[in-house]
Amino acid sequence: MPNVAGFGALGFERAIVRLEAALREHLPAPHRRLTTEEVKAAYPSRSFERGWRIDMLCSDDVTRQIDLLVTRAFPAGYPRTALVNPPDMLTWPHVERDGILCLLPVLAEVDAEDPGQVGLNLIGRSARLIEELLVGDIVERDFREEFLTYWFYASDVRTKVTSLIDPVCPSRKIRVWRGEDMVVAGENEAQLNHWLVNRFGKRSGKKTFHTESAAFLWLPQPPLPSDYPQTGADLIALATSAGEVDAAILADVAGAHHKDVLVLIGAEGRGGAGLVAATTTAARKISSRDGHVEKPLTKGFTAAGMPPAIAAARVYSAARVLKSEVSRADAAWVHGRGKDPRTARLLAKQITVIGGGAIGSSVTARLVRAGVGTSHIVDPQDFDWPNIGRHELGASSVGKNKAFELAARFSQDFPHLAITGHNVGAQRLIDGYEDLLANSDLIIATTGSWDAEGALNRWHVVNGRKVPILYGWTEKHAAAGHAVLIEVKGGCLRCGMSPTGTPTFKASLWADGQNTVEEPSCGNHFTPYGAVELGHVVDVIAETALGALLDPPLASRHHIWLTGTARLEAEGAMWTDNVTLLGEDLAVGQKILSRDWPARECPACALAEDALIAAE
Ligand SMILES: [Zn+2]
Repeated sequence: MPNVAGFGALGFERAIVRLEAALREHLPAPHRRLTTEEVKAAYPSRSFERGWRIDMLCSDDVTRQIDLLVTRAFPAGYPRTALVNPPDMLTWPHVERDGILCLLPVLAEVDAEDPGQVGLNLIGRSARLIEELLVGDIVERDFREEFLTYWFYASDVRTKVTSLIDPVCPSRKIRVWRGEDMVVAGENEAQLNHWLVNRFGKRSGKKTFHTESAAFLWLPQPPLPSDYPQTGADLIALATSAGEVDAAILADVAGAHHKDVLVLIGAEGRGGAGLVAATTTAARKISSRDGHVEKPLTKGFTAAGMPPAIAAARVYSAARVLKSEVSRADAAWVHGRGKDPRTARLLAKQITVIGGGAIGSSVTARLVRAGVGTSHIVDPQDFDWPNIGRHELGASSVGKNKAFELAARFSQDFPHLAITGHNVGAQRLIDGYEDLLANSDLIIATTGSWDAEGALNRWHVVNGRKVPILYGWTEKHAAAGHAVLIEVKGGCLRCGMSPTGTPTFKASLWADGQNTVEEPSCGNHFTPYGAVELGHVVDVIAETALGALLDPPLASRHHIWLTGTARLEAEGAMWTDNVTLLGEDLAVGQKILSRDWPARECPACALAEDALIAAE
């Protein structure tokens, strides 16, 4: 049965008929349909199915030909246009080797319901692009602004260099590690080694990752294709165009270690800094036919006796350089594509998460993704099978310490961050790791244990609440979740709790009377909704954490996430008066309510006053 949606073979033929009718009716320029053989011969590396050739009289009185081309996916796949007999590659921007024109923004305008209009629109845009290229103003501009694209077209090797460096002025020496199928560049030995150990684990024994000196060249503007280095000498010429100092850095690197040199090249393109890479080849060993291996770079010298100037001259000689692309893996790029100023602030932050259970592990995961630079995870428990359904860890971590496993997992996935696990309980943390707590920008407690959190609160108030603490927990069946941020002003945790750690503000009321708070590590495993709904609770805690790090409130605040009222009622529960007094339209449910955390003269706050008096 034909596909009535308009695609498939029938849809394709129908669209072709409509496209040809549109060309006949509305295209003044002479044109003809290409044969299948012509299409295949002209574009062997592409999968075009049909094509039309249009004669276009340009403003310079030259007639040029544009091909309109479609694949079998048409009218859904967007058509392409090509300039027949294009100038040499990289003479004009937006023209690929086989003449295909890059009109990418057109993607958004493809209307599968009107294939004729799509074709005419593309031909019009292509004609305008060619006129602009003839005028010439856009040639240099676009080559420079989109230099990453054109460097890619000119690249010699497939493997991209992974970069951890901050792509900003000035030119400087950097470090590089060459793995079997990966090359990683970093600002210095320490940064590179930290990243490699996180990513690949510690080397066995005393082995370390072997890194070498490399160069970063910052150019005042992106290079034109005609400036792309073909040889080592070209590379020095490019550096010299930036400045004598820049060229000296390249020479220094080559002079010091008698090996080929990786040069990362950075410049400001459209939408931000871009990085590309070039590697010299002068030091490559040459095997002659009789099996004799030559080392052209060091020929005539002992390893130690070669003067740096000669090494540099040989590295940057007529031997060719290999151009490659660069994948940025630096923190600013990973966490905000270099566009979010908050990224730098978060990278400088340190958090300590006490409790690596269901909530703690997922809150940490979100904050790590957001780009918090330094995280400490504290938990004395081993991971077990019943944890799996609601935790960031899985079967491979069963029987192992939660804190260590989470730190290992996140370190491997976010090697640019610093994440450490601590196999200790809350009380030992308070007694023995006071520096860790005091140096944090935020402490997050998700232990679900009043023993632990009551003690933490006493430590907090007695020490003047210099570091904010965020407490997070969930109610029965994950029907509600709480994020309580204790700041220097407002209530302490105990102000809103009973002597045994029951919150005075409970959101859900259960028919069986079991409206107690359950610990986050096991409070939701009675219902399949638990694993899913817990996500909302995690989100409200993680969001409160981000707020505390970036834009802290003036006093202690309490955020409450509530499940849908319909679900709550279906499970035989209802909202407490606390909630109905706060929320104006609870029938819709799935809501986040906020309030000030209450302050009163609680026993913990009294401790703080005693401590003050004792200090005076
Ligand atoms: Zn208090």
